[in-house]
Amino acid sequence: MTLNITKIAAVALMASLAANSFAQEKKEYPQQERMRPGMSEYWTPQPKIVTPGNQATASAPSDAIVLFDGKDLSAWESARDHSAAGWTVHDGIMTVNKKAGDIQTKESFHNFQLHIEWCIPQMDDQFKSQSRGNSGVYLQNMYEVQVLDSYNNETYVNGQAGSIYKQTPPLVNAMRAPGEWNVYDIIYTAPVFTEDGQYLYKPRVTVIHNGVVVQNNTEIIGTTEYIGFPKVKVHGDGPILLQSHGDPSPGISYRNIWLRKL
Ligand code: MG
Repeated sequence: MTLNITKIAAVALMASLAANSFAQEKKEYPQQERMRPGMSEYWTPQPKIVTPGNQATASAPSDAIVLFDGKDLSAWESARDHSAAGWTVHDGIMTVNKKAGDIQTKESFHNFQLHIEWCIPQMDDQFKSQSRGNSGVYLQNMYEVQVLDSYNNETYVNGQAGSIYKQTPPLVNAMRAPGEWNVYDIIYTAPVFTEDGQYLYKPRVTVIHNGVVVQNNTEIIGTTEYIGFPKVKVHGDGPILLQSHGDPSPGISYRNIWLRKL
């Protein structure tokens, strides 16, 4: 009996020593592959092209907050340092000044209906894909609805005009030609977060491009990253941010911007 107990104790000791030395061995895992932009881009199927109908200019309804009526940028500021928005106002429109960087509304918003018109200037054919008229409307400073020249200019479909950038391509391509005005009507529902920083309810967006639905109550799955996966970042109300993209093509213009809180 005593012998058996000693034997069991010895086996247990050996097992414990073995487990210890196993724990001390450094395990080798594969390196995580570095994310590259192309890993989150896809090119097919290209959305069907739909020629939009004529649209009357939608002036702001009586309960809207007018964010730009062609006169000045008093509702906007530099996203970099909250100084005066440095884009150019002329002829009732505002044009991106790439040196000045992104601009954002001074006011923050929760759920809203946003009307915004934008125009891609005529430019040389050397500007292609994402380097042709790239800008963007960021909802709550987090989620980009892409602005791009998608008229005879193919790119990865989850990065063309009307896409939720690097997430959801538009249902169809309702783009107007360079020099003509495009219209976005965007209906946005802000997310609700859990206490541990996940989405309880994801953000949702409907986008109507030139009178054509291109996002139909689309669930946004996280931030719209250029490289890597969407991230969940806890946030509250946020501004509308307009992107000054770093590509060398001429800057695009915006006009007639208004928002209704929902
Ligand atoms: Mg963009």
